[in-house]
Amino acid sequence: MDMRIIVETTFENGTTKRHRLGRLSRPFRRTQPEGFGLLLEDAKTILGQLQNAILRDQIEEISEASRICPDCDGVRAIHDYRSRVLDTLFDRFEVKAPRIRRCACNAKSDVVLGGPLSPLADYFPDRSTPELRRLQAELGARHSFREAARILETFLPCAKQVNTSVRNRLGKVAREICDSEQTEPLVPSAAKEAPALTVFLDGAHIRCRPE
Ligand SMILES: [Zn+2]
Repeated sequence: MDMRIIVETTFENGTTKRHRLGRLSRPFRRTQPEGFGLLLEDAKTILGQLQNAILRDQIEEISEASRICPDCDGVRAIHDYRSRVLDTLFDRFEVKAPRIRRCACNAKSDVVLGGPLSPLADYFPDRSTPELRRLQAELGARHSFREAARILETFLPCAKQVNTSVRNRLGKVAREICDSEQTEPLVPSAAKEAPALTVFLDGAHIRCRPE
């Protein structure tokens, strides 16, 4: 049998768009035990294509909606497009993010016009999705950095992972936790006189070497 995988997007304005994500072939006369059902490599390919379709449709919808001026409902012009790289659990994508010119109605109301607006900038902090950052940090904390990279690449169609990128991600997440806790102390003010809490973190990775 052959299967076609088609995804249909319905935008908020009611328009629809179809994406053909590919085909799966399972000829029963030649099916082996490992050819039953969806295989990991098939799933990784489909997930990458699905992510691509979702991202591009989301960007298209947000970009179009952002062109409408909130003050006069006029359509603002697109100034230019900037390339942005976005790392996700399901591959790395280069997307075109529009920059939108400010509306002339702002000038009439004596508002100082600034540079073009980037409606997608808030969606791409650190050029990666929060889900990818969380998983890199969590696996990096539980395993050696090289093993964490290997686990990610085994199960997910993410971009190539290396031990140093997992290490850097864990370090960055740890610094962010430290920074947020400095502004919100763990101990309430009444317990300021309590003895300091000491936490030890320990870890080791011993590579198996024949010699
Ligand atoms: Zn306007």
